[in-house]
Amino acid sequence: MEEQNTEIKRAAPASAPAPMQNSAPGQDSRPPFHRRRFEVRKKVCRLCADKVDKITYKNVQVLKTFMMDSGKIIARRMSGACAKHQRQITKAIKQNRNIASLPYEMK
Ligand SMILES: [Zn+2]
Repeated sequence: MEEQNTEIKRAAPASAPAPMQNSAPGQDSRPPFHRRRFEVRKKVCRLCADKVDKITYKNVQVLKTFMMDSGKIIARRMSGACAKHQRQITKAIKQNRNIASLPYEMK
């Protein structure tokens, strides 16, 4: 005779954090209207669109478009470049700075 114990003991955590369902009146989870359409905009990697396979330090004209006027490299979230191309851009710009065809900093 086998007795099966179907009762499962579960120790409920005493200090379980209560879910915060405290929504203030008038508070919307969505961003305010003036910001909403900004999210919809989709960025496409410019180099992928042009089917550029590899970008090297020789493509100075292209690299200049990925730099700010101050000489900074434009971040990926701004330029919209994909990870692969952004890596190549960064590397190429840094090489170019070394051979002084692109500036470190503009004053
Ligand atoms: Zn790309």
